[in-house]
Amino acid sequence: MTVKGGAACAECARLEREREAARRVGDWSRVTDCVVLLRRHPQHGGKPVVRP
Ligand SMILES: [Zn+2]
Repeated sequence: MTVKGGAACAECARLEREREAARRVGDWSRVTDCVVLLRRHPQHGGKPVVRP
């Protein structure tokens, strides 16, 4: 499996797996939830998330 962007963070990796699983079963509210949580995750191994 390829890791994209800054998914070196264990929590984000978990969220990405959950997002993919939710997408597969068509649970879009959960997909959105995971996307929001991924965007808002504050720290990734000491690197702050780049915000728009
Ligand atoms: Zn993270």
